[in-house]
Amino acid sequence: VLPRVVIVGRPNVGKSSLFNRVLGERRAIVEDEPGTTRDRLEADVEWLDRRFRLIDTGGYETNEQNVYAPLIMGQVQQAINTAAVVIFVVDARDGLTASDYDMAEVVRRAQKPTILVANKADNEARELTGIAEASALGFGEPLPVSALHDVNVRTMLDMVVALL
Ligand code: GDP
Ligand code: MG
Repeated sequence: VLPRVVIVGRPNVGKSSLFNRVLGERRAIVEDEPGTTRDRLEADVEWLDRRFRLIDTGGYETNEQNVYAPLIMGQVQQAINTAAVVIFVVDARDGLTASDYDMAEVVRRAQKPTILVANKADNEARELTGIAEASALGFGEPLPVSALHDVNVRTMLDMVVALL
């Protein structure tokens, strides 16, 4: 059984974009999951000779309010419970929201090795409010990444396998 690496975060921070970026880079072995019609939510990934199963969460959320939907939060909770490593994603450009703090509480309670990443750090010149604020979540300094421009995604994977 492969260790599970679970991507969590409030809607729209770029979880699925990161997931897809990782798959794109590593020619991941993608397995069809029964019951998922639209999004690929799980894939086996190999990085630095280590294999793990990467899990995207909240595939059907459409707006900020949905983070409170019990079904989604239940699935996120369950995914975190099975995780060897959690990738907690926030938005580097937005400030933190109540949903980020709610998610942080869920992650903290699970007491899993956690990598905090601030996605949408597309370039250094931007005013990246979210990066500065994210330290307050209690998971240390965030790793700035950009799923869109492929910034620091390899570094994120290095950190993942170091925790496996
Ligand atoms: P999810 O709801 O957390 O899965 O987020 P998505 O992956 O669906 O992305 C939400 C929105 O953020 C989409 O419009 C993406 O194109 C955009 N997005 C994702 N990653 C980046 C990034 O690195 N930079 C920028 N500027 N936009 C991004
Ligand atoms: Mg998504």
